[in-house]
Order: sequence, then C-alpha cells, then structure tokens
Amino acid sequence: MTEHATPGTVGFIGLGTMGCHMARNLLKAGHAVHAYDVRPEAVAEISGAVPAASIAEAARAADIVITMLPDTPDVEAVVLGPGGLADNPPPGGIVADMSTISPQAARRMHGLLAGRGVELIDAPVSGGPVGALNGTLTIMAGGSAAAFARARSFFAAMGTTVTHVGGPGAGQTVKLCNQVMVAINIQSCCEALALARASGVDLAQMREVLMGGSAASWMLDRLGPAMISGDASAGFRIDLMLKDLRLVAEMAQSLAVPLPGTALVTSQYVAARAHGEGGNGNQALFRVYDRMTNQVRD
Ligand code: NAD
Repeated sequence: MTEHATPGTVGFIGLGTMGCHMARNLLKAGHAVHAYDVRPEAVAEISGAVPAASIAEAARAADIVITMLPDTPDVEAVVLGPGGLADNPPPGGIVADMSTISPQAARRMHGLLAGRGVELIDAPVSGGPVGALNGTLTIMAGGSAAAFARARSFFAAMGTTVTHVGGPGAGQTVKLCNQVMVAINIQSCCEALALARASGVDLAQMREVLMGGSAASWMLDRLGPAMISGDASAGFRIDLMLKDLRLVAEMAQSLAVPLPGTALVTSQYVAARAHGEGGNGNQALFRVYDRMTNQVRD
C-alpha cells in the first residue's frame, strides 16, 4: 500500500485531546472512521465519523484499529480486556497503538495479538495537539516492516515524519527518549527565565533573542510565550508528562541506566502536581519557579 492508496476503514478508539484531531485528519484523507470512546460525547464531536457503541463495533469492518488512550492499563484493557480487540480482531489484521505506554507492555501485547493473527504496531507520536490538528505529527513506529508498510498510508494522514524505528516496542522506546529530552528542555527554559526575571530582563525580548541563537528550541518557541504570560491552559498536561516520566524511570531501572537529570526534573513535575497543576499544560512547570523565587502573579 502506498501513501496515496485507496481509502480504507479505520476503527479509532480514544477521541481525546489528540485523538479527535487525528480522527478528523483520517476523515479528511478520505478514510472511513468508526469511532469509539467511553465518553460518547467525544465521538459525537467528530463530524463524519460513524459512532461505534463498543470496541467490537469499531473493529468490525476495520482495515486498521488505532488506539489513542491515556496510559498502559487503558490500552491493555482495550486490547486484552473483556470485549477487547484480542477477542474482536479487525479483519485487516492491524492494530496501531499511538498512545505513549510502556515498551515492555507493547511487546507483550504484540506477542499475544500475534497469536490471534493480528499485528500490533506501537506508533506513539510527538508534536502535541497543534501537530495533531495540522496533521504534522512525528510518528515513531515499532513492529514488523510488513505491518508498517500496510499502516503507513493511514499514518501519513496524521503526520509528516513517519518512521519505522525497529521491532515491537521500538516506537515506545524512542518516544520515551524523546520525553527525556522534552522534560529536561522545559526545565532548562524555566531556569533561564527564572534567572532573567529575577534580574529584571524583558523576558519576551530575551526569548526572541535566544530563538536566534544556539539555545533555540521547540520548547522555548512553543511554550516560552505561555510560560512568560502565565497561561497554564492545557495542551500536553503535567499529569501526562508525569506518566511518561514514570515509564522512563521504569525503563531506565530495568536497563540499569542512571538518568540523574531526568530524576531531578521529575521532582519538579511532582512539585507542580502537588501545587494543583496536574491538569495544566507543561509550561505550568514554570509556576514551580514562581513559588521558588517568591513571584506573585495576578
Ligand atoms: P486524553 O485523556 O485527552 O484522551 C484519551 C481519550 O481516551 C479520552 O477521550 C478518554 O475518554 C478515552 N478513553 C480512556 N479509556 C478508554 C477506554 N477504555 N475505551 C475507550 N476510550 C477510552 O489524552 P490525550 O492527550 O489525547 O493523549 C493520548 C495519548 O497520547 C497519551 O498516551 C499521551 O501520553 C499521548 N500524547 C499526548 C500528547 C498531548 O499533547 N496531549 C502528545 C503526544 C502524545
């Protein structure tokens, strides 16, 4: 199948912050989408999608089922639980889990589904809700090359950088490495901004200047303005990053790789959640620095 192949049928499970945009982009690309979410109101918002009343109904006619769920137990429930995909495999024989979950769990599910004639691809994403909206996600896929080749045209409707990074679990592994860099980079932005603020420097101007030099980063570019203005509205939530950092810590321990920088940033995220920021976007990590430096915002 090429990226311009005949439109197919997608079972889409999990129409939250990311999934709603991804499903709309699949529809825009001409695919039929049979959508299921435990919150039927989330499905109702996807105009053009066929609402499914269960996982089985979403999978029934699907070439591929895509899951976009919060955490490992949610994906395990949808794949292996009662009424799940293992008992109701899509006729196309492909399940692509695009959530961020444990690489070990992804490998385990890959093996269990293979026994039912279904190929699991772990295909987490980077790019946030804006990337999901614009169809410009980075998609890192683990699984067999044959399954990836069949899923690729569907991924191409949602992302611009779509890469097969290895066998089962490799996509989740690459995604967790991505999160190590994202978290430490956000922390570096917070520290530079806190220092500049205490010195009385104009933060907006400093951000612009730094974006032209070697400290430029996606985080400073996209999250810097909200950090400076104090806008904490959610995109990628603090709670979700803490989930990812837990997965990173589990992987690092199992492989005996010390990650001191990540451990330190994780503590800052724990502090942010303790201060009630869990539902806010990642830029709200800067509010920890508001408190550490006794800055009072309106
Ligand atoms: P979300 O919580 O907004 O959406 C998850 C959706 O899954 C919800 O609509 C929820 O009702 C549904 N759901 C939960 N359990 C279900 C079940 N058993 N059956 C059917 N539906 C179920 O989460 P999100 O922000 O869209 O993130 C989804 C995944 O993508 C997470 O693993 C996250 O780490 C990852 N991710 C998120 C972002 C981001 O910026 N939000 C970026 C990259 C990756």
